Amino acid sequence: MASRSPVFTRRTPERLAEADSVVVIGLGRFGKALALELEEAGTEVLGIDADEAIVQSLNGQLTHVVRGDSTQEDVLRQLSVPGFDRVVVGIGTNLEASILTTSNLLKFKNPTIWAKATSDTHGQILEQLGITNIIFPEQDMGRRVAHLVRGALLDYVEFEDNFAMVKTSPPLVSQDRPLGVTEIRRKYGITIVAVKRAGGEWDYTTAQTVLYDDDTIIVAGPTKKTEEFSLLPKS
Ligand code: ATP
Repeated sequence: MASRSPVFTRRTPERLAEADSVVVIGLGRFGKALALELEEAGTEVLGIDADEAIVQSLNGQLTHVVRGDSTQEDVLRQLSVPGFDRVVVGIGTNLEASILTTSNLLKFKNPTIWAKATSDTHGQILEQLGITNIIFPEQDMGRRVAHLVRGALLDYVEFEDNFAMVKTSPPLVSQDRPLGVTEIRRKYGITIVAVKRAGGEWDYTTAQTVLYDDDTIIVAGPTKKTEEFSLLPKS
């Protein structure tokens, strides 16, 4: 039972639920990274994991971290999970635990549930259960890295509907003249939205911005076009 498990806390789960915090269930590599990033960004987290060593290792790093078996509905109820708006299930390899946990959450009607899938079949099951936010960390990372490896991209984010933002250095065609004069948007179908000078800070671009070879830029547009633009000669 959760009440007999080690608990490390700065706020009770009840208070956390009221504070619009996030529950992260399953603190493996994915769940742990997610929970720590949320805390880092200022969102309080209730972390739940069945493994005592994992719970102890996160002692003091999450607002509240507790050992509990999330397949048990009463354990989740004791931890006030039904009162949270946002819950993430980071359990993957243990398919049965992922499905049972997710089913419990669907019963609670938490407004937003995210669940990790480790295979297409796992994803299909979660979808059939009624989960709309399904995360495929390995597939997503594989696709992302393929773009980084293929092109001269320093970073890459693809949104839905085939739209992406990439971090790269300015191709020759965009250098040494005001962007308005280069007609980059008309010719290449992309927009250069921001620039970072060597050693400087990020700033928005305007039609008057002139790019140089040691700048870093953010390009936004249809995925294929952002990549094609980033692959143009740089010198
Ligand atoms: P990752 O790749 O993120 O490390 P994984 O995909 O291999 O994880 P699992 O190992 O199945 O996924 O689970 C991740 C975490 O979830 C583990 O720390 C595990 O202890 C925890 N977990 C598994 N089953 C349960 C459960 N029933 N209740 C609570 N936590 C659980």
